[in-house]
Amino acid sequence: MLTHLSLTPSFGFGDRLGLATPGHIASVKGTKFAPIFAQQSVRENTRTGRTPQQVMDDAKRAVDAAKWDSPWGADADHLKTVDDIPPFVDAGYTFFTIDPGEHVDNAADTDPLDVLKRKAASFINLDHLSMLYLDQNDEQVWGNFEEVSLQRAVVKYENAIRHAASMFKRLSELKETFDFEVSVDETDSPTTPLEHFFIANELTRLGVRFTSLAPRFIGRFEKGVDYIGDLSALDVELSKHAAVTAHFGTYKLSLHSGSDKFSVYPLVAKHWGERIHVKTAGTSYLEALRVLAKHEPDLFLKIYTLGRERYETDKRTYHVSAELNKLPDTDDLPSLLEDFHAREVLHVTFGSALSQFGMELKAALVKHDEAYFNGLKSHFDRHLSLLK
Ligand SMILES: [Zn+2]
Repeated sequence: MLTHLSLTPSFGFGDRLGLATPGHIASVKGTKFAPIFAQQSVRENTRTGRTPQQVMDDAKRAVDAAKWDSPWGADADHLKTVDDIPPFVDAGYTFFTIDPGEHVDNAADTDPLDVLKRKAASFINLDHLSMLYLDQNDEQVWGNFEEVSLQRAVVKYENAIRHAASMFKRLSELKETFDFEVSVDETDSPTTPLEHFFIANELTRLGVRFTSLAPRFIGRFEKGVDYIGDLSALDVELSKHAAVTAHFGTYKLSLHSGSDKFSVYPLVAKHWGERIHVKTAGTSYLEALRVLAKHEPDLFLKIYTLGRERYETDKRTYHVSAELNKLPDTDDLPSLLEDFHAREVLHVTFGSALSQFGMELKAALVKHDEAYFNGLKSHFDRHLSLLK
């Protein structure tokens, strides 16, 4: 049943090719997670040449074939403007991820005090916000505001919060019940737990009924590879974010670029408990390439060669740190799917690969559907068992 999932623990399986849902269904079955089987951002739709309706139809076909009769959702991911919304509503999406990142003032973290003060003064509600957030006596685990940190939070996030609220209003005019996520995960700097509190509190005050929130966490959550950063610092940080979430009790924490973060899952499971949403997407595409590396090496090599040519251009809209000169020199093609640099190069160039070799790639996966199914199943079993 396609429906909103509200506070149930949930797991998003993006599928850029429209052939991965059978494997996704097999791995999520029997876990505590309610699945999102259709999940595509506007950026991904552009790069894969698919419409929201096609993504939905592919997922539905697989859901019907597998006779999946439990709740599942469809995520309109990283919507940026009100005009992005209607095609996803028309196609029956149930979960809307709003990305107000363009309205975040990233410079606020480092602005000199005079600049910060001038920017903050341009918010007519600054006095009211000061009254609300300053001089709170109870010491909070996520920290307390003083004048400067409040000004930084207001300058950094207030416009983004208002944009998210206007997106919520527009969506409410089009749809009665839906999951609503606000994501600031693709901003330049991390969201502190105190800023997370500010965002959640402001959204709540503005009447935005959001069901999940994706802060940008410390360290690097790059696509298709494990976490890069200090795990013990992250441990502390994730517990503080969880404390903010518990304080409100009305939404889940959302982990974007959530695939392959095997070292982080135990921490997330420990701190976030049931209040969790995880998003994955490109990792299912990489599993498709693993099938090619084993069974269709010529096609794999064409895609890999193109990826190396396109990487510097295609990586621009992603946070990735792979370097072309660090790619391994090997004839063992499947081993490339274990290499950090090769994974990122293959991951961010999927749009180029699909526009040139999409038909061949899909035909190969249909031919080797059992290998793809088994690969996805074991890959996601590994994710989901660590998130228990
Ligand atoms: Zn994201």
